[in-house]
Amino acid sequence: MSGATLDNLSTESRSFPPPEGFADQANATADWYDRADADREAFWAEQADRLAWAERWDQVLDWQPPFAKWFVGGKLNVAYNCVDRHVEAGHGEQVAFHWEGEPGDTRTVTYAELQRDVCKAANALTELGVRAGDRVAIQLPMIPEAVVSMLACARLGAAHSVVFGGFSPGALKARVLDAEAKLLITSDGQFRRGKPAPMKENTDQAIAETPSIEHVLVVKRTETEVPWTEGRDVWWHEAVDRQPDTHEAEAFDAENPLFILYTSGTTGTPKGILHTSGGYLTQAAYTHHVVFDHKPGESVYWCTADIGWVTGHSYIVYGPLANRATSVMYEGTPNTPHEGRHFEIIQKYGVTIYYTAPTLIRTFMKWGKEIPEKYDLSSLKVLGSVGESINPEAWMWYRENIGHDNCPIVDTWWQTETGAIMIAPLPGVTAAKPGSAMRTLPGISAEIVTEEAEPVGPGGGGYLVLDKPWPAMLRGIWGDEERYRDTYWSRFADQGYYFAGDGAKYDDDGAIWLLGRVDDVMNVSGHRISTTEVESALVSHPTVAEAAVVGAADATTGQAIVAFVILRGNAAYDESTSETVLKELRDHVAKEIGPIAKPRQIMVVQELPKTRSGKIMRRLLRDVAENREVGDVTTLADSSVMNLISDGLNKGKSED
Ligand code: ATP
Ligand code: MG
Repeated sequence: MSGATLDNLSTESRSFPPPEGFADQANATADWYDRADADREAFWAEQADRLAWAERWDQVLDWQPPFAKWFVGGKLNVAYNCVDRHVEAGHGEQVAFHWEGEPGDTRTVTYAELQRDVCKAANALTELGVRAGDRVAIQLPMIPEAVVSMLACARLGAAHSVVFGGFSPGALKARVLDAEAKLLITSDGQFRRGKPAPMKENTDQAIAETPSIEHVLVVKRTETEVPWTEGRDVWWHEAVDRQPDTHEAEAFDAENPLFILYTSGTTGTPKGILHTSGGYLTQAAYTHHVVFDHKPGESVYWCTADIGWVTGHSYIVYGPLANRATSVMYEGTPNTPHEGRHFEIIQKYGVTIYYTAPTLIRTFMKWGKEIPEKYDLSSLKVLGSVGESINPEAWMWYRENIGHDNCPIVDTWWQTETGAIMIAPLPGVTAAKPGSAMRTLPGISAEIVTEEAEPVGPGGGGYLVLDKPWPAMLRGIWGDEERYRDTYWSRFADQGYYFAGDGAKYDDDGAIWLLGRVDDVMNVSGHRISTTEVESALVSHPTVAEAAVVGAADATTGQAIVAFVILRGNAAYDESTSETVLKELRDHVAKEIGPIAKPRQIMVVQELPKTRSGKIMRRLLRDVAENREVGDVTTLADSSVMNLISDGLNKGKSED
């Protein structure tokens, strides 16, 4: 047929309406969809009105494709919206963050304290020469100073560029150079898996040749000895603590840059995604309010992402704080000092909203349900997922073992580029299907199309595009307009669609299913098969916790499916059983979604190559499957994983 599409292989008949009583108290109701469709700009203006504006906008949207301005002429201060206005409204004593350090130390930060901390930091940054329009690089562990630093920048109208704490000096250097950051905020060290690891040593290396950096502001976290450059380096406690704890927040234009964030690099060279203020904050706050059904002063909210990812920006910092959330913030890894750490924290603080990634849910599956069973998780009301497609079985496991069949699950699709959630259920409205992100949120519009931009219609799969501008959309790639147009707007230039890079399908009821990146699509005997559906079929077998599939060149079928699986903790597997187990898995896939999707070979592995944000990196597995030298592994969380996989490959093959 003309216009390549994606095969639709799986079907899902399960569906779960909101639990009893949930709909009556939900923040958003079904009529929001129609209201937003009837007048999108009025709808977004209403959402923007949830914020405090120093000057009201005179135009909701100025759309000169592919450049958008939202709330034109409006002025606001993002930090004031996230902190001060709550204190002024009498909520200074409400906890903003229950912070839990990896070694077990804790801090409680109220909104009044956060206000003082942000003011002091803003004063210190001013003393260090930071002005509106500047860029500040931040590489910090998950400590309250990370949030304070981001808000201090926002308060001053300077853009931050947060770099994940685990990134190498090279990665930090590239980002500092690209953004020409003036100041770097970092720490002496960071706790990771129970041990202090150096941080400043690395950041010093990173900025050895970055002329734009004038100062380095260093938070003391691990009491690690650090190299020191007099005149350039300044301790946080010396520069910030002595400052006055008030600071006059200036209002900035709605389109003032708020941050640059480099995408995690699953696909290639990181891109500096630029986000601005008014539209971004509007959508971050709106989505946090409706998707998680957040209730200020009542909910206890925990997003487990790192502030180095967009999820940390939008759903640890800006969305929740704009909505006056009480949040949990955790510094460490989920298995330090034991595999029940997250559940212990949920129990300790009575977490009501828990937002995490499929990679962690599948890890919990691997560790076994006996672990969450030991904790009281009855406070939970809403569960969220982001980052990759959540396999239906992982969704069910999450629902049963963490949510006790009583919590709506919101699978949220969005990207660094979209700034905030785009496709997700509304927990008080949607009857959610396991594994589906369901539909675009009120105010958001998407379409699934063929290569020729024809809508695929119910039951069809193709390219996911966003056909109307949205408030939190990226405003460009920092310093590279050409790349912005090329990357996102060239594929469907005639239609003016933003192409997200992902494949998706509608099921017969019109629910949206994300199918993975189109670059990963496998072409088997002319069938275009998504990685997601085959992986989900594998994960639906009771012995499998996690799976990654790739298309490898094949003389007969063009490409053949090669699968890598991690078994659940209790699955029996050794030399003697391997042949039977692997055959059973291959047959299982054939039975679940059809013989065309049957993997040519399956390999059992201990780990899969993942980015530092926990996403499977299929292009490296493709190298292994095609016996090529493995490509660039620098963005991998653990680069030794690839050696283990390559070594094991020749032992564990199953073919017929
Ligand atoms: P890069 O763009 O540099 O390759 P990345 O795409 O991994 O990195 P992010 O912006 O963090 O960086 O991730 C967005 C992508 O994550 C989406 O395009 C999609 O592929 C995937 N994703 C996020 N949430 C979901 C979800 N709920 N379901 C399916 N896929 C998701
Ligand atoms: Mg991407």
